[in-house]
Amino acid sequence: NMKGQGRNGVCQYDGALQSDYIDKLKMRDRLKKAISDELLTVYYQPVVDARTGKISRFEALVRWTDEVEGNISPAEFIPVAERYGLIRSLGDFVLHQVCHDLKQLHLAGFADVSISINRSVKEFISSNGLPPIWDTIESYALPLKSIIVEITESTASSESSDIQSLLASFKQKGIEIALDDFGTGYSSLSSVVELRPNIIKIDRSFIEGIDKQDNRTLVSLIIDLSHKLGIQVVAEGVETRKQLEILREMNCHFVQGFFYSPAVPLASCISILEAQL
Ligand code: C2E
Ligand code: MG
Ligand code: MG
Ligand code: MG
Repeated sequence: NMKGQGRNGVCQYDGALQSDYIDKLKMRDRLKKAISDELLTVYYQPVVDARTGKISRFEALVRWTDEVEGNISPAEFIPVAERYGLIRSLGDFVLHQVCHDLKQLHLAGFADVSISINRSVKEFISSNGLPPIWDTIESYALPLKSIIVEITESTASSESSDIQSLLASFKQKGIEIALDDFGTGYSSLSSVVELRPNIIKIDRSFIEGIDKQDNRTLVSLIIDLSHKLGIQVVAEGVETRKQLEILREMNCHFVQGFFYSPAVPLASCISILEAQL
């Protein structure tokens, strides 16, 4: 109870909250400018077939280098974008950049490559006059199945009925859905059955601790469940050969992580794809 600490304690407490708030507002203003000046970039992390080592998919991850603050993590600025109404223009920028870049890859002869984008549930509920994702994808003459939409499980189940009908319309269009950070939400199993995603991405925290028996049990359970339901499964945050080998033994379809590669610029994706020809 801060009030019990007297006048000084109250001041410090309020002061800390206030400066945190001011930092957020500053970030909001800089982010807004970065979006309108198109200063954000998109990097791509390879998704690797665990069995063959082949790469034909990438995850798009937004990057922001502020001229004062340097690199700012999306984990920090995505929540600010959501809070202050910037997430739709951010998401729209990312989608256009991804479509543009994917078109380059397809034109370069890598026609079977797909890219997944991350979307907040907040971006879907009332699209604010922006065209639906499929219109944008089609405006680049890209097949709808070449863009995958990743949504985080905890948010996916929170606005259940809205999101369910939305996901149904995606699937009807042929746009695949991935449940991101799987296992960290509250209703993992029921959301899988309800939402029937095309892909499940097992959260990095389980892979990090995969040497522990409990985590191992959980991960293999998720993999087996996915196989049974005909869902593709991706392990996130694979950093070591040991983790990769354990996942291979469990018949995990795909792996993603620093063991192979962090997110890289488009030019590096082309080199990666050329190297496996
Ligand atoms: P996510 O979608 O779960 O993305 C995976 C995050 O884990 C990325 O962080 C990636 O760089 C990081 N990562 C990949 N492999 C490893 C590994 O082996 N070890 C470790 N320690 N980390 C690894 P990043 O790029 O900082 O993104 C954080 C989160 O921000 C993403 O989590 C996603 O939820 C969100 N995000 C990123 N880009 C976008 C975007 O364009 N739109 C929206 N709405 N959210 C985005
Ligand atoms: Mg993701
Ligand atoms: Mg994730
Ligand atoms: Mg995440």
